[in-house]
Amino acid sequence: MAVRPVVIWPDDRLRQESIAITTIDDSVRALYQDLVDSMYAENGLGMAALQLGDPRRMFIVEPKLAGRPESAPPVAFLNPVIVEVSDDQQDSEEGCLSFPDIYIKVKRPMRAKFRAMDLEGKMFELEGEALLARCMLHENDHLTGKLMIDFVGPLKRTMIKKKLTKLKQAEAAGDDA
Ligand SMILES: [Zn+2]
Repeated sequence: MAVRPVVIWPDDRLRQESIAITTIDDSVRALYQDLVDSMYAENGLGMAALQLGDPRRMFIVEPKLAGRPESAPPVAFLNPVIVEVSDDQQDSEEGCLSFPDIYIKVKRPMRAKFRAMDLEGKMFELEGEALLARCMLHENDHLTGKLMIDFVGPLKRTMIKKKLTKLKQAEAAGDDA
């Protein structure tokens, strides 16, 4: 159980394809707990394992957003698959813990239904619209190495790359001091 540093783009680790979870053992449960601790530390709505540098097919979503009580634990999605998405779209700004202070307008389906395994190994389905659909689709993209930066043009991408590279250099310098 620990808050772990979030992998910040650009970083090749964010481009890995995540691997299916076949056994739910202590290491999977520990990964879940690290995701929960790290997501709450950063006030995120969701987080994929790859954002902690771990290429296992898991992401979590904040409980209130997922339609559960605020005091409930974040919802774990293991080996998630998209069951269906709506034809109607939503187009609004999106953030990502791997892109601090960057917001990008991303067009996504208005509704999305997911099927996944929970930490007990049981299958469940969750359908969401608006922000919940956006969040699940965003986290699911991480599992295939896709990032919200892929939705912007080359000019804006270069700008964001410069900004985040500078931020990372500043943080590295701070760590040395
Ligand atoms: Zn993200």
